[in-house]
Amino acid sequence: MSDVTVAVKDATPTVDDVMVDVHGVHKSFGPLEVLRGVDLQVRAGEVTVVLGPSGSGKSTLLRTINHLEKVDRGWIGVDGELIGYRRAGSRLHELKEKDVLKQRARIGFVFQNFNLFPHLTVLDNLIEAPVSALRRPRKAAQETARRLLDRVGLADKADAYPRQLSGGQQQRVAIARALALEPKVLLFDEPTSALDPELVGEVLDVIKDLARTGTTMIVVTHEIGFAREVADTVVFMDGGVVVEQGPPAAVLDHPRHERTRAFLSKVL
Ligand code: ADP
Ligand code: MG
Repeated sequence: MSDVTVAVKDATPTVDDVMVDVHGVHKSFGPLEVLRGVDLQVRAGEVTVVLGPSGSGKSTLLRTINHLEKVDRGWIGVDGELIGYRRAGSRLHELKEKDVLKQRARIGFVFQNFNLFPHLTVLDNLIEAPVSALRRPRKAAQETARRLLDRVGLADKADAYPRQLSGGQQQRVAIARALALEPKVLLFDEPTSALDPELVGEVLDVIKDLARTGTTMIVVTHEIGFAREVADTVVFMDGGVVVEQGPPAAVLDHPRHERTRAFLSKVL
């Protein structure tokens, strides 16, 4: 275990009500610097949509927030806790794996390809982590799971296996599964990119419903209409940095940067 050189006094939230605080984050893979100093603040209850060309570092950013990737420089806070570290006096120490897992459990992640457990029923997909990671009683976990399936419109699919569901249904199960851990924030990495066009709407509707109830979310997507309708903040990333951010009407209709304009002209 190694100490890190982050000054603790710098590792404090920079915005009131901030749920996710990304501060000067750098990340390289070998010689390739993928994140080159990302700053991002997401307020509790808000929806942030991240746009940007392929390879701009969007997935890597989400993965660092969830500690699936460790940052090289900078820090990330979620609900006031430093991701991957604990404070001891004036120093930061890396968390042990089991504590990282505990942090990660409260940060929901919805992947492009659903990532459901194929050998488990829908209901068992939803209760697996609450029972094994959070030690919830099975009965209570099942009750929560049924309520969440109802919420995503799949109450009748509890006993089905993932392969028996459409892509849209599988993604709704994946969202319910993420919610079962009562996440402080939900991260979506292109949740509709793998879906046939006619199935995109049902998944976006579930995300919109979550937005209405004040779930804090960061959504990487190319669905500009969704961004316009649901986002509190739109963030445009390119080349491993946040190029610009603001309310949807500002970023989408009056982008200030040429790179944002060029990107939007291709996807709109
Ligand atoms: P985006 O999601 O915006 O398309 P990514 O964050 O997936 O971008 O990737 C940014 C860059 O980092 C790409 O060039 C990608 O090939 C590279 N990259 C991502 N993950 C890894 C990895 N684990 N090892 C090496 N290169 C990676
Ligand atoms: Mg990606």
